[in-house]
Amino acid sequence: MAKLTLSVCKAYKNSGRFRIHKENTSKHWKHYFVEDYFDDGDWKFSSEWVNPIKAQLLKRKIVHRMIWQCDYCDRQFEVLGRKNSKFECPYCDE
Ligand SMILES: [Zn+2]
Repeated sequence: MAKLTLSVCKAYKNSGRFRIHKENTSKHWKHYFVEDYFDDGDWKFSSEWVNPIKAQLLKRKIVHRMIWQCDYCDRQFEVLGRKNSKFECPYCDE
């Protein structure tokens, strides 16, 4: 499945020996995402370094952990997704 972006932020790439940097050279964009998630609620988290251009693109795709209420059966379930998007109800699907 596609990666779900949770957050994109600047972080220090190197910690340790070469600590002294100029501003903007020391920090890099880090992409935190869910690589996979399962029906039983188990999520696999990962992170990767991305370039600044990709970071801007990813920022627009950040997903949120929300409680979604189904219009048809009124039951609630937890989803990961973008705000204002539609989700399939796992109960109506049965
Ligand atoms: Zn439903």
